[in-house]
Amino acid sequence: MHELQQIINRQRRMDALQRTALLDSPAEEAFDRLTRLTTRALHVPVSLVTLLDKDRQFFKSCSGLPPPWCDVRQTPLTHSFCIHVVATRQPLVIEDARKDPMLRENLAVDQLGVVAYAGYPLKTPSGEVLGTLCAIDTGPRAWTKDDLAILEDLATSAMTEIELRATRELEGQARAAEAARASAEAARQRFALLAELSGALAEQPDLGRALTLAVRLSVPLVADGCVLDLLQEDGRMQREAVAHQDPREEQRLRNATDPPCLLGAEPGDSPELAGHLRLGDPTGSCMRLPLMGRGRVLGAISFSTIPPRRLGDTEVELARDVARRVALAVDNSRLHQELIEAVHARDTFLTIASHELRTPLTTLRLQSQSLLRITHGEKKCPPEQLASRAEVIARQVERLGHLVDEVLDIARVREGRLPYHLEELDLSEVVRDVAIRFREELARSGSTLVLRTEGSARGRWDRIRLEQVVTNLLANAIKYGRGRPIHLLVTGDERFARLIVRDEGIGIAEVDHLRIFERFERAVSEQHYGGLGLGLWIVREILSGMGGTIAVHSKPGLGSSFTVELPRQPVVVAPTPVLH
Ligand code: ADP
Repeated sequence: MHELQQIINRQRRMDALQRTALLDSPAEEAFDRLTRLTTRALHVPVSLVTLLDKDRQFFKSCSGLPPPWCDVRQTPLTHSFCIHVVATRQPLVIEDARKDPMLRENLAVDQLGVVAYAGYPLKTPSGEVLGTLCAIDTGPRAWTKDDLAILEDLATSAMTEIELRATRELEGQARAAEAARASAEAARQRFALLAELSGALAEQPDLGRALTLAVRLSVPLVADGCVLDLLQEDGRMQREAVAHQDPREEQRLRNATDPPCLLGAEPGDSPELAGHLRLGDPTGSCMRLPLMGRGRVLGAISFSTIPPRRLGDTEVELARDVARRVALAVDNSRLHQELIEAVHARDTFLTIASHELRTPLTTLRLQSQSLLRITHGEKKCPPEQLASRAEVIARQVERLGHLVDEVLDIARVREGRLPYHLEELDLSEVVRDVAIRFREELARSGSTLVLRTEGSARGRWDRIRLEQVVTNLLANAIKYGRGRPIHLLVTGDERFARLIVRDEGIGIAEVDHLRIFERFERAVSEQHYGGLGLGLWIVREILSGMGGTIAVHSKPGLGSSFTVELPRQPVVVAPTPVLH
């Protein structure tokens, strides 16, 4: 038995057996038909297709085998006649096993009632015997030549069937291997795309070039066409980069302004849509994704395919990944740009601020040196001149104080902590009080001031802040008013109080109308007037804190008119800290 087992356990035979993938496979009609044919043709009760495994024989088919053997479809090798066929690679023909010295001890004789046996080897083309096709009788039997010839033919058919299975199995394995290889290759390509994309976006300092590269890389792996639009400050979408497999389509998309997915809404149309994938058409050949950065829509990226290609799950996933990476790059680039601008604005401000602070300081130094010389008796000075010197000093101190206050207000406004103490006020009274303080400056500049009041202009506001607004506007009117008349008009209706400060000075070009209300901004042509470019920004912030607004009407050379509008009832406006 041991020797037999060594023979059947040979590696090459076991490999051939594994390749068939028939061990423990369910019964199949193709094999059952052969065993049924055997039982009928040879008039035997039982016929088997056996496969010899290491420690058992497995019945691929078993016609006529009584239970429980037909259910378990296998026996240990102790019950196997076939083992001898496999070991000798020759047919085995037994008339009466009970009389056979080699087989009479075999447990199949007793337990399965095997008496007569004829088994033919199932031999592979390379000569490995995998098992048998055998016919079994429960009584002694003299097998005829015909019987054996039939059995041999059927064994050949069984072997053909097995070969067929093995080939199919191999083909299946090859197909599965090819599919696995293809999917591994696709995954590798996707990974390579994303890695290359991240590299390009991170390393290319020019955003335009980085985006062109990103769009090119996406074709054709993600889709056949890719279009990237960026949202401009004025709310328009601008085509930034285009790539398409078809050069003519690429050209068309480059010149087109409409989104390539016609049914896709513009990102930003609807906040709840932002961040969601929108399929541009029901055929799944086009898709538009918003580019999101810190909760804002930065633009959109569209992917399209040339039918019949569609965007599958993998492409959609990949497209999302591309969109995320591109959005991050766009956002980073914008942040970088904002940072550069902020640093530039700060540097400009520091230059202007030091210059502005130095001017009154120089006057103060000269005046104090002169006063020292007078007190030391080195210089004579009539008392009226002394008074005018003191006035100069007081004015410069006032100017310095004003500049310092403005600088301090930057931080307060930025952190949203300008305090408001509301009280019942009359706007025309506040304006009059401030105007009185400007009497001397007006006289020096040669401007006359006309104050007119129409209607009631009472309301609940913060006096100090309101005075600051009027002071800044009046100071500008005097500074830029070229000694011409200045008109102040206070009006009011049920809901609003209004103040119009009008001068007939240099005026402001239309391009600067919005800009001058921003921090550190001064009209381009008027830089030599001095000033920190903060006054109007502070005015706008103070007014918005009380629910009010300011607007300018002006033409260069014809003067300017600033209109302040304040709600008379207190408006609770939560301070919104400026983030940079
Ligand atoms: P500044 O301290 O420079 O005057 P503001 O914020 O008060 O700063 O004003 C911003 C800019 O707006 C000024 O630099 C000036 O160019 C322009 N401007 C403000 N008021 C007037 C005005 N009444 N006439 C002409 N230009 C003005």
